[in-house]
Amino acid sequence: MGSGQVTSSVPSGSSEFHGKHVTVAGLGVSGVPAARALHERGAVVTVVNDGDDARAREQAAELQALGVTVRLGDGDTLPEGTELIVTAPGWKPDKPLFLAAGKAGVPIWGDVELAWRLRGPDAAPWLAVTGTNGKTTTVRMLASILKAAGLRTAAVGNIGVSLLDAVLGEERYDVLAVELSSYQLHWAPSLRAYSGAVLNLAPDHLDWHGSMEAYAADKGRIYEGNKVACVYNVADSLTEDLVREADVEEGCRAVGFTLGTPGPSQLGVVEGLLIDRAFVEMRHKNAQELAEVCDVNPPVPHNIANALAAAALARSFGVPATAVRDGLRAFRPDPHRIEHVADLDGVAYVDDSKATNTHAAEASLAAYESIVWIAGGLAKGAVFDELVAKSAKRLRAAVLMGADRELIREALARHAPEVPVVDLDRTDTGAMLQAVTEAKRLARSGDTVLLAPACASMDMFTNYNQRGDAFAAAVRELGA
Ligand code: ADP
Repeated sequence: MGSGQVTSSVPSGSSEFHGKHVTVAGLGVSGVPAARALHERGAVVTVVNDGDDARAREQAAELQALGVTVRLGDGDTLPEGTELIVTAPGWKPDKPLFLAAGKAGVPIWGDVELAWRLRGPDAAPWLAVTGTNGKTTTVRMLASILKAAGLRTAAVGNIGVSLLDAVLGEERYDVLAVELSSYQLHWAPSLRAYSGAVLNLAPDHLDWHGSMEAYAADKGRIYEGNKVACVYNVADSLTEDLVREADVEEGCRAVGFTLGTPGPSQLGVVEGLLIDRAFVEMRHKNAQELAEVCDVNPPVPHNIANALAAAALARSFGVPATAVRDGLRAFRPDPHRIEHVADLDGVAYVDDSKATNTHAAEASLAAYESIVWIAGGLAKGAVFDELVAKSAKRLRAAVLMGADRELIREALARHAPEVPVVDLDRTDTGAMLQAVTEAKRLARSGDTVLLAPACASMDMFTNYNQRGDAFAAAVRELGA
């Protein structure tokens, strides 16, 4: 979320928050705008924050100047008289502050819940997307399609644009394309999206949620109260189960997306075309062509699935087929997501540094026939057996680096013993140039050298962006 200032002016006396004692848990990207918005509405706001560094002090001073109380260095004690907590999404549910709130019967909202409650009476409806992987891409595709239909829209939420800013700012929207993380959904009990989509579900963030069931249940919250469509992934039955469990508005439909031929109430692919059999008259016999597969950028399987999910949400809002095609054509992926860097000697070099978990890396490895795979980093408790077993036949070779590379090396030894492995035995930033040099040596014409680490980057790099940039720089150096 951006920390931009919310510019709405609200007569504080008219607000449900007037005089209410609200504790904002966590300064930073969501806490500061939340504290401001609540203060503007007449709430008595106390901000609590674990950290007490220079940045926190700067933000605290800003809020204190408005009359907000800020407690730095203690995010665990519930301030006396608290009637409501508004928390930063990442704070864990088992934090002492929340346990105390639970005992005292104090409700806890996240920034998304606050934005949902503060939106005006004629606010834009939300088309909401969650899933373990593909959220940002899908939400950006969706916004591109909605724009192509002439609608005023923005991609907001977990994508780095504050929902509070979108909801309370000056700009008017017809509809919002909203990315929601599992954390945000956990803290958003009354959110009711117009239509929602769960793209896929694989174990992730389980230390935070406590179990796969709890993680899935939080993801499933996106379907609660949907008006028009609950969009699910036909290939991932867990997503359909969540639709079945959701309490939706009368007339809301389950709409599946599939890379195969679509049945009634589904979107899918037939002979290189994206086809809609959900939002057409007489869907038992009719179908509507939306776009060609080659309109999807890049047209690899998991990204075609993302495009179908985006199309389903847009179509649920009444967007014409031509806008789906035009929006997909206009869409440019964010950096480090299956980004084609260069071709050298007939070998393609692809940067999917954003593949920070095994589920994402599996999708990315499935997109190419013959791969020299660059992998490794921080495993975050992941197990690599399934990923390696499923991808083994596509691997020309593997080049490993990073703190947990041994886990991948062992999985390769178990499931793909014939695949040559280069273990760089390095965790310094400079390892990337050596990795790409080794990959270049191992690749044959027609192969893809794919950076899809299946791991987080923080053992060697500041973040996945820096890791991807290092890859691209190494490719350029070798190509020069
Ligand atoms: P998120 O916002 O959920 O992290 P992104 O759109 O940023 O998702 O994509 C992150 C990575 O996940 C991509 O680099 C790619 O490796 C992988 N990915 C994208 N879409 C899918 C999908 N539908 N299924 C599986 N993996 C995907």
